[in-house]
Amino acid sequence: MTSQLSIARTARIARVRAQMELENIDVLALSVGPDLPYLIGYEAMPLERLTMLVLPRVGDARLVVPYLEAPRVDRSAAEFELVTWQETQDPVALVAAMMSSAGRVAIGDHTWARFVLALQGQLPNAEFVPANRVTAPVRMVKSADEVECLQAAASAVDAIAAEMRERPFAGRSEAQISRELRERMLQHGHQQANFAIVATAANAASPHHEPGSRVVADGDLVLCDFGGTMNGYCSDITRMFHVGSIPNQISDAYAVLHQSQDAGVLAGVVGASCESVDQQARAVIEAAGFGEYFVHRTGHGIGTEAHEDPYMVSGNTAPIVAGYAFSVEPGIYVGGEFGMRLEDIVVATADGPLRLNNAPRDIAIVG
Ligand code: ZN
Ligand code: ZN
Ligand code: ZN
Repeated sequence: MTSQLSIARTARIARVRAQMELENIDVLALSVGPDLPYLIGYEAMPLERLTMLVLPRVGDARLVVPYLEAPRVDRSAAEFELVTWQETQDPVALVAAMMSSAGRVAIGDHTWARFVLALQGQLPNAEFVPANRVTAPVRMVKSADEVECLQAAASAVDAIAAEMRERPFAGRSEAQISRELRERMLQHGHQQANFAIVATAANAASPHHEPGSRVVADGDLVLCDFGGTMNGYCSDITRMFHVGSIPNQISDAYAVLHQSQDAGVLAGVVGASCESVDQQARAVIEAAGFGEYFVHRTGHGIGTEAHEDPYMVSGNTAPIVAGYAFSVEPGIYVGGEFGMRLEDIVVATADGPLRLNNAPRDIAIVG
C-alpha cells in the first residue's frame, strides 16, 4: 500500500538526489539525527552499534541496522533494502564496502566521530562533506503538510502562553513555573517538551538562563521561552510576564522590542535575504540606543529540529524561499537588571510572511 507519507518521502529522496547531483556527491550516509527520519521515517538508536542509511546518487538505498533493531524498521514508509549485521560483524566494513567506489561522501552531521573516523580510515580516497549541504536545502522548504504540523504545534504553545496570563507567578520558583510549562505542553498534545526557560529579573539578562530556585517576587519581569515536539514538528515561543504594574523603563524598552520584532517579521518576504530579517529587527533596537544589548542573531529555522537552517543572521545572504519556517526573536539584555525577548515562528509565503504564533504579544500583568 502506498501511503501519502511514503509518496512525500519518495519525493524528498528525489530532491536530495537532485542536490547530490548539484554538489557532485556520490553517496549520502546518514546515521543518528533528524535527516534519517525525515527521509525514510526511521530514527537510528543513539548507540555504539552502527545504524546507517547508504543512499547512492544512482542505485538502490540500503539501510544497515544491528540485527536486533530490525523489528523496529517499518519498511512501508520508504523504499530501501534492509541489511542487518550480527554482533560479531564489523558494521563499518560492511558500510565501507557499499561505498567503496565513492569519490565524495556526504555524511550526516550528527554521526558519531568514532564511526566517521573509522569510515575515513577504510575509505582513504573518499572526500567527506557534511550531509547538511544536500539535506538542508530540501528540509528548509516546508510542504503544506509540514506547515500544518508547525501551525498545530504553534497553536498549542499559544494556548499555553494565554493560560499563563491567568496564572500566579509570585511565590513560585523559576523551576516550578518551568515544570508547569513542560506539563502543559504535554497536556496540549506535544509528545515531548524540549525546553522551558523561565528567567526572572536580572536572571533574564542571560538569554538561555537555566531555571533555578529563585522565587518570583512582586515587581519582577519574567521571560518564558518554551517549546516542544508535536507529531514530529517543533514549537518555540517567547512571551513576557510582569508581576504587578510595569515601570516605565520596562515598558519603554519593550515598546522598542515589540517594534523590532514586527520589523523582523515584515522583512521575512520571499526573495529578501535571510540576513535582512536580522538587519531590520536590529535597526530598530540600535536606533533606540539598545544595540549593544541585543547579543544574538534574530532567528533560526524550525521544523523537525528546534534549531535548523536557515539562520537569520548577518552574513546569511541566501534568499528566503516560500516555505521557509523560522523564528523572529530579538531581545534586549541589560546585565544585572533585566532581559526581554519576543519570539514568534513565521513561514514565508507567496502572500508574505505568515505568523504561526498569535498569542497576545504585550507584557502580561500577573499576580
Ligand atoms: Zn535559543
Ligand atoms: Zn525560543
Ligand atoms: Zn527560538
